Amino acid sequence: MLIGIPKEILSEEKRVAATPETVRKYIDLGFEVAVESSAGEGIAISDDDYSLAGATIATDVERLLAESDMVLKVKQPVFNQRLDKHEVNLLRDGSILITFLHPAAPESHDIVKRLSDKNITALTMDGIPRISRAQRMDALSSMSTVTGYKSVIMAANQLPTFIPMIGTAIGTIKPAKFLVVGAGVVGLQAIATAKRLGGIVKAIDIRNDACTEAGSLGAKVVEFDIPQELAVGKGGYAKALEDEWIEIEQHLIGPHLEEADVVILSALVPGEVAPILVTEKMVAKMKPGSVIMDISIDQGGNCEVTEAGRFSQRLGVNICGIQNIPGRMAVHASWLYANNIYYYVENLFKNGVGELDLKDEIVINSLVTHRSTIHHQGSLKAMRGGLSN
Ligand code: NAD
Repeated sequence: MLIGIPKEILSEEKRVAATPETVRKYIDLGFEVAVESSAGEGIAISDDDYSLAGATIATDVERLLAESDMVLKVKQPVFNQRLDKHEVNLLRDGSILITFLHPAAPESHDIVKRLSDKNITALTMDGIPRISRAQRMDALSSMSTVTGYKSVIMAANQLPTFIPMIGTAIGTIKPAKFLVVGAGVVGLQAIATAKRLGGIVKAIDIRNDACTEAGSLGAKVVEFDIPQELAVGKGGYAKALEDEWIEIEQHLIGPHLEEADVVILSALVPGEVAPILVTEKMVAKMKPGSVIMDISIDQGGNCEVTEAGRFSQRLGVNICGIQNIPGRMAVHASWLYANNIYYYVENLFKNGVGELDLKDEIVINSLVTHRSTIHHQGSLKAMRGGLSN
């Protein structure tokens, strides 16, 4: 069974779905692996490195995708300008595709339909349940860890000030103040990174468990007295708040926002549009030169005035709406992702190479299309709701 690893063609995407380390592991499992020439360029892995690991190098991506039984990617298939063909049309009918698809998002519906029409068995890496058996496959958590760290580094780069307290002959420079809104995987990593840099960190979340974790990392927790039955739902995940509670939270955040140098916004309820916790009026009261990193931008953002895909300046505040943050730290993001996807494939074929285990809970949760049928419940629900493009 041939695994194909194409070079990612989405603009500025440097990650790759396999490293020489995982190529070796696939071969040990009994797969063959073909890698598109220069696929590892963005993370300084050469074709020779992949060859030495046992992969063949493909110079013709059309042939590679047409011959592969299973294609592993990082991002969803897109239109290939050079070939004037959509990547889905380059896949072989009946083959398997594993990548991030975000199938419930309206902008993904066209891809999901194309994959179904082409009889592709499509599996999405964002569908892996957060159960202990799936921890090594949890690509969302891996990418969020990268994002939490990198978002603080990107903010530091924008700041016209030091982050740690610095003693000088002139006097003492005070440390930068951080506010982290949403202490999930992104937020907790952001807290840890900001603390390591010497910042003073406050955090707020609606789940008591998240607040406890934020506190244990050294953040001062902003108390939000919200009944947990309103904030926490099935499986311990956050619930979407009613408008009146969002307003209370905005009032609570306001004073902390005004004194912050950096605000990391990563509040999200799975499957929902991100709550607006920072309005334009609140931005207007922030310090000039301060930075907002709106990490939840893929789900609409937590700040009312974030512009998706770019850094913008609003009312003297630098607001970041950059979406693909892990792609900016491609070496470790690829190492994590390549291993996540390897463990996913190992589980998928635990009954033997070529024998898909479609009854496994992890696979059921991540299956998007199979035998020309859309299986993903979130995607079907969103399509029925008329959200499809
Ligand atoms: P997560 O589910 O682990 O954490 C979200 C946290 O937000 C939870 O702790 C939840 O309790 C909290 N929350 C929900 N509603 C809140 C509210 N009203 N106030 C305060 N906290 C609230 O998710 P994550 O992995 O940390 O990801 C967070 C966001 O970052 C998501 O939108 C995700 O898509 C995004 N993300 C972006 C990138 C990027 O490159 N831009 C990369 C990874 C993740």
